[in-house]
Amino acid sequence: MTLLAATIKRASLGISTRSIARPVTSRKMHIQSIPMWEGTGNNYAYLVTDDKSKEAVIIDPANPPEVLPVLKEKTDSGSIKLSKIINTHHHHDHAGGNVEILKHFKLPIIGGKDCSQVTTTPDHKSQFNIGDIKVTALHTPCHTQDSICFYFEDGSDLAVFTGDTLFIGGCGRFFEGDATQMHKALNETLAALPNETRVYPGHEYTKGNVRFAKKVLDNDAIKKLDEFSQANKETQGKFTIGDEKQHNVFMRVDDSNIQQLVGETKPVEVMRALREMKDRS
Ligand SMILES: [Zn+2]
Repeated sequence: MTLLAATIKRASLGISTRSIARPVTSRKMHIQSIPMWEGTGNNYAYLVTDDKSKEAVIIDPANPPEVLPVLKEKTDSGSIKLSKIINTHHHHDHAGGNVEILKHFKLPIIGGKDCSQVTTTPDHKSQFNIGDIKVTALHTPCHTQDSICFYFEDGSDLAVFTGDTLFIGGCGRFFEGDATQMHKALNETLAALPNETRVYPGHEYTKGNVRFAKKVLDNDAIKKLDEFSQANKETQGKFTIGDEKQHNVFMRVDDSNIQQLVGETKPVEVMRALREMKDRS
């Protein structure tokens, strides 16, 4: 069996070559979702910890009353060493908690150029570490011009924090950008990540996204997402980039059924038409 064939065989069994090589006790990055404004904005902040070093970052802690108690409990008990705030973009419901968080924790803020109190805006594809976790900043301008997705790699454990660029089954509104930029963000930049990368978006919008997807396309992946979102209140981290390519209509701009429906064939025009339809729905 060639190495490629072996890799494919292992992948088909759901086992990565990496996990075979690593001891069972190997640490993993730990991702804790912190729901905020449940029932209205349905935002998520995420606390990500490197289990070995206990170094941790908090992503988009926009509502301090809901986030600070978690951070205080964990720092006071010594279970995490908080090192950074990360922001996916400048909107108030993502970066609006920075000033208050800084009153309690002296931390650098890594985020887009327009984020409140930002310390460092990483270049596209630049990297930094959180303990042994490797983080890559991916510029994905459109929803805002300073939107950045953060790709986390801990051995074979892969996750991407997508803010309001990519949602489970949907994408953000084009507030500061256009269809060309969103097409690039979703179908070039994020689509290039390994299929097994788990997606952690800035909001729980899945039910609404599925409602729209069903009007546009009928496939098994959308049916599955529909069933999952009916049965589960939270969908973050439960789907991967590979899943998004199947159930997210904004990542299926080459799908002939969608092209027929919107009457366009160029990917950017399909993206534009889908977003306009969604905005009207
Ligand atoms: Zn936003």
